Amino acid sequence: MAVGDSVLSSPLGPPACQKDAKALRFIEEMTRNADAVQERVLAEILSRNAETEFLRRYELGGATDRETFKSRLPMVTYEDLQPEIQRIANGDRSPILSAHPISEFLTSSGTSAGERKLMPTIQEELDRRQLLYSLLMPVMNLYVPGLDKGKGLYFLFVKSETRTPGGLLARPVLTSYYKSDHFKTRPYDPYMVYTSPNEAILCADSYQSMYTQMVCGLVERAQVLRLGAVFASGLLRAIRFLQLNWQQLAEDIRTGSLNPKVADLEIRDCIGRILKPDPALAELIVKECSHDNWEGIITRIWPNTKYLDVIVTGAMAQYIPTLDYYSGGLPLACTMYASSECYFGLNLNPMCKPSEVSYTIMPNMAYFEFLPHEPNSLELTRGSPPKLVDLADVEVGKEYELVITTYAGLCRYRVGDILRVTGFHNSAPQFHFVRRKNVLLSIDSDKTDEAELQKAVENASELLREFNTSVVEYTSYADTKTIPGHYVIYWELLIKDLADSPSGDALNKCCLAMEESMNSVYRQCRVADNSIGPLEIRVVKNGTFEELMDYAISRGASINQYKVPRCVSYKPIMELLDSRVVSSHFSPARPHWTPERRR
Ligand code: AMP
Repeated sequence: MAVGDSVLSSPLGPPACQKDAKALRFIEEMTRNADAVQERVLAEILSRNAETEFLRRYELGGATDRETFKSRLPMVTYEDLQPEIQRIANGDRSPILSAHPISEFLTSSGTSAGERKLMPTIQEELDRRQLLYSLLMPVMNLYVPGLDKGKGLYFLFVKSETRTPGGLLARPVLTSYYKSDHFKTRPYDPYMVYTSPNEAILCADSYQSMYTQMVCGLVERAQVLRLGAVFASGLLRAIRFLQLNWQQLAEDIRTGSLNPKVADLEIRDCIGRILKPDPALAELIVKECSHDNWEGIITRIWPNTKYLDVIVTGAMAQYIPTLDYYSGGLPLACTMYASSECYFGLNLNPMCKPSEVSYTIMPNMAYFEFLPHEPNSLELTRGSPPKLVDLADVEVGKEYELVITTYAGLCRYRVGDILRVTGFHNSAPQFHFVRRKNVLLSIDSDKTDEAELQKAVENASELLREFNTSVVEYTSYADTKTIPGHYVIYWELLIKDLADSPSGDALNKCCLAMEESMNSVYRQCRVADNSIGPLEIRVVKNGTFEELMDYAISRGASINQYKVPRCVSYKPIMELLDSRVVSSHFSPARPHWTPERRR
């Protein structure tokens, strides 16, 4: 455990081992020189991509400095790049966005025209992601000692992949990572030993994968020091899975043999080596799981758990109370902030309270700019070009939209995340994730915006025509009290002929019609991942939305400017709406979804 003096004196320390010392030194170096690193990153990106079709368009003339870049290049959205991306997807291998060959597409959970956005990536980005991953444990080890004395129970999954017409793979970034050699043949590291075997993580069948990961986590319950999933919703899905499958799991553990529903040969082969008859453990599982009260189940089954490793910032904050309930209030660690476009940074104080989480953007990952987010600012509404601020120049307390320029060829690309600066680590700012723009409803990785919800309501209300009925007002709510959570849509109806009002069956079908109208991420969560439950329509009494307006006005809203909120979560409003419900309806089937894109 020899540790260099220079590291001991760093604000991040002392490291747990020599390997950690190197990682912490790297973080210090990057964050101390944030501005210089950013300048170098931009110059590298601009010089290597100078001959791409995209950059040539802006006639940089070989310049790689910030001033020329900022004066010539506009900010872009995914939709602006859609034609270029489509050409790459169709097989055009010329250097359109990137001088390096596009190795695959990463499919984002953000959608465009109902389909996942396709993010072109290059081979070396895997190394950059790996580098960020390699910094997480050295930071965690500063706060939680002894993680090398046990294992992590992480529920990790691959999702389906497709090929674009031009033959490139299109799959989520984590699927790409788990299938890479970086993950599959990772060297042994005592601080990163997982209970889940690769065979289980890499099994495309989510039931078999989850079942096996749960069996392994149960068998090694005493060694488990931390439990995790990428997002909070994923860990809760695992708890729900245990609720539904504990009898079978206990039986398999009792007999030491995997039941035939897990048919994957590679899994069976590897579990054959792990699973031995353990009647005492089976009995314990039955005893704990057959209780009606599941409060604290995580620590009852995995008594040595020190923390839960899940992201609970942003939309996932809605799951904090449920996680607290099942874990008896274990610390929740949010370790990193990343996207399909680029991995951004990490939390240097991962054991802090969820409300205090700040992510430090690592200046080596991409070139970062920040668009001041001041919705009411006159300057912006008058149309004068917004001025982007550099990473080292953001101001504490202000909110910004993140804009990135990546090695893979995205230039001044608007990610759509709103961040607030909370402070600095050395000269690198730290950000609180405020929200993603234009997201109304989210349960898992789905993100439904106002326009999508509006379209879904319109499509579904077509079914009411034959009953001479229309939807006069609506709002929505992401109900996460049940697992999986589900969308609730409140409808106020105008029924012209009471003798012929819409049947319950017709309203159930409206639920399904709404689901069919949702974007592909929503439908995938419903169909393949089972991470969203059937959509519910609650029909409310006539006049309910007027009462909602009266309530808002009584609390100071201006009568002229009042707009019906299209999503609600404020408790008194929920209570008002729920007290006016006359009937509720659920989607009777799953919507259509296949891995293939609709366009
Ligand atoms: P995707 O492109 O599907 O990987 O989604 C990336 C998006 O997920 C980001 O742009 C954020 O909106 C959100 N996200 C990722 N990491 C975090 C985090 N730590 N906290 C809150 N939101 C996050």
